[in-house]
Amino acid sequence: MEEGLVSVDRFCAGSQAYFLTHLHQDHTRGLASAGGWRHGPLYCSPTTARLLPARFPGIDASLLRPLSPGASASLSLSSDSSDRPLSLRVTAIPALHCPGSLMYLFRVDLGCMLYTGDFRWELGCDRARRAKQALHDALCGDTVDLLYLDNTYCHPSLNFPPRPVVAEQMVNIIRAHPDHEVIIGVDTLGKEDLLLHISRALQTKIWVWPQRLLTVHLLGIDENHEIFTTQTSLTRIRAVPRYSVTIQSLEALNTVCPTIGIIPSGIPWLWKSGEGKVKPKGRSPAKSVRRKGRDEGLIEMDFDPLSPPKLFDKDSYTLPYSEHACFSELEDFMQTVRPSTFVGIVSTSFCYVNPRHHFRHLCSDKDDGLRQRTRAEILIT
Ligand SMILES: [Zn+2]
Repeated sequence: MEEGLVSVDRFCAGSQAYFLTHLHQDHTRGLASAGGWRHGPLYCSPTTARLLPARFPGIDASLLRPLSPGASASLSLSSDSSDRPLSLRVTAIPALHCPGSLMYLFRVDLGCMLYTGDFRWELGCDRARRAKQALHDALCGDTVDLLYLDNTYCHPSLNFPPRPVVAEQMVNIIRAHPDHEVIIGVDTLGKEDLLLHISRALQTKIWVWPQRLLTVHLLGIDENHEIFTTQTSLTRIRAVPRYSVTIQSLEALNTVCPTIGIIPSGIPWLWKSGEGKVKPKGRSPAKSVRRKGRDEGLIEMDFDPLSPPKLFDKDSYTLPYSEHACFSELEDFMQTVRPSTFVGIVSTSFCYVNPRHHFRHLCSDKDDGLRQRTRAEILIT
């Protein structure tokens, strides 16, 4: 069997069909090449299909194959090693990450594969319960031969409260600073529910940059233009690109007027060493975290999901509002799926530990040695 009949979150020529889990930059590499996507049918959620032409203007919209959460599609693939076409059935599962995010369950006669992309799996939350049911329905009791798992926060120290709990904590922080400007660091997509919660709780508009405003309108949010604005004079709360919230930028803003910065993220920005000392904070919090992250034995997260939000540095807060599953959610997911074998899809996480270290007991392939590629794995690149 030749490799790469289909590709997931990987966009270069050579595959017969392409699948996009969601529209974050690290999952769309190659989509913008050569002036627009023309290499083959591209499956994604209807929400992602709506956002794609604005994000990648050269895209050939006739190649988009929107697949709603819970829906399935059948594809016929040609294979060099067989005279007969290979039939593939794919089912979309809600990933509860950012708007439009999907997992994909692939079935071929070679086996069954589940590709999670980035996902959240909040225990006890209605949306997660529905996603779990959709996964059960799609599996119909079959075993997942190979699971590709979002292992971004696969570390036992990383357990987050549900997002609504953290959203309320953020509202309380803003309420406690009535005379401050507030900047909230966000990505180009995601955390819309958080911003909506803040806006409704505080009865205020939220500033976003123009491209972000276009995105929320394409998502069908705030069609009456009552919540989001690009006019700074209308609100003291601004959602800004995450990279722009730094200690330096906050220092500069505070020379003009009192300002606090809030980063909603699963990355804990306060660290202490094994000796219990707080490690020195770098000028850029995110960089300092990544630098120390691979040493599993020495680091300890100074993070308690039940404790109040912490002040990272003067005027800057970090709150564990995460769009990736935390450790207890990953454990529950693994117990639900119990795949034959699995691999992590993230190899550069700041707290990277091979996820098999934590979950190998939940799959039937317990061999940590050189794993043979499964027949099913060969289908996807
Ligand atoms: Zn993502």
